[in-house]
Amino acid sequence: MLKNRRSRLTSFFKEYSLNALLFTDLRNIRYLCGFSGSEGALLVSQDHAWFLCDSRYTAQAAEEVQGAEIRECAAIRIDTVSALAHECGFDRIGFEAAHTTVSAFRRMSEKLSGIELVEVDSRLDEIRICKDLVEIEQLSSVAALSSSALNAVLANIKPGVREIDIAVALEFEMRRRGAEGRAFDFIVASGERGAMPHGRASDKVIRSGELVTIDFGALKDGYHSDETVTVACGNPEIRAQEIHSIVRTAHDLAMEAVRPGISCRDLDEVARSYIRNKGFGEYFGHGLGHGVGLEIHELPTLSPRSTAVLEEGMVITVEPGIYIPGFGGVRIEDTVVVTGDGCRVLTSVDKQLLVL
Ligand code: ZN
Ligand code: ZN
Repeated sequence: MLKNRRSRLTSFFKEYSLNALLFTDLRNIRYLCGFSGSEGALLVSQDHAWFLCDSRYTAQAAEEVQGAEIRECAAIRIDTVSALAHECGFDRIGFEAAHTTVSAFRRMSEKLSGIELVEVDSRLDEIRICKDLVEIEQLSSVAALSSSALNAVLANIKPGVREIDIAVALEFEMRRRGAEGRAFDFIVASGERGAMPHGRASDKVIRSGELVTIDFGALKDGYHSDETVTVACGNPEIRAQEIHSIVRTAHDLAMEAVRPGISCRDLDEVARSYIRNKGFGEYFGHGLGHGVGLEIHELPTLSPRSTAVLEEGMVITVEPGIYIPGFGGVRIEDTVVVTGDGCRVLTSVDKQLLVL
């Protein structure tokens, strides 16, 4: 499996004429060698790999790291990279430009004298864009856990309860089901706050008749889930029901259109044109979705500016919304894996307007 993942680096060695690639981004490190700790580096050449860490992580690395030689660094990690590079005669090493700060780059340049450091652009993260079977299993499992936790807290939503109470109960249910934690700060936005696409749970009290948008996800084995429901706390007004119905249809149409070969821009347009034709185009300001994996937001991006094309194995969200300042909002989101002829939905909370 890891061999397969590393084979995705081949084109970068060629294109940039590199002897080795240096990874410091923890998501890429986990993906390529299995290490799940919070500090380390991975140096990969065409036929070998070295995982570098300090003594705090040696035992953990021995348990987790696969297919890489573990080198414990006594002091400064970059000195070990330098020693290895000289030992192996490397003179061109690529690094993750998208994940390297200016000061880290300066430090590397000073320490790696005589070695050319080559900026490899953010396309390097594309190695993770199509998920393998192990990842799809992990993403299914975390999505199922998270949906089940939400179903367990729906009954808590009643007039007088605060948004934050729902968020706390949801995280508790996720942890009970084996999550390491939450995938991000949950959005629980009720009434007018629903107009904020990223309205984090506040101490606002939920009132009867309000819509409540809950955007939530769990984290397990490094993988994230992402799902959004908009429910009603008591009978909502007709306008809220209409908006919910428009967003839901836009969501369903886009879900039906997911298949390998469709461009992310065209998929975005399926939902966007429906919302636009209903007269709410100006109230759908964000992209239709994003990839999900070791990061909550990763490639591909689904938006009017996206240039990516869907491929089998990509795991993406479909999340249209309408947000009206002074009124409120609705978003409906599912996470799906692109299959040979369509998609399989990983998240499972019912997306009909649930009146609680
Ligand atoms: Zn979300
Ligand atoms: Zn999302």
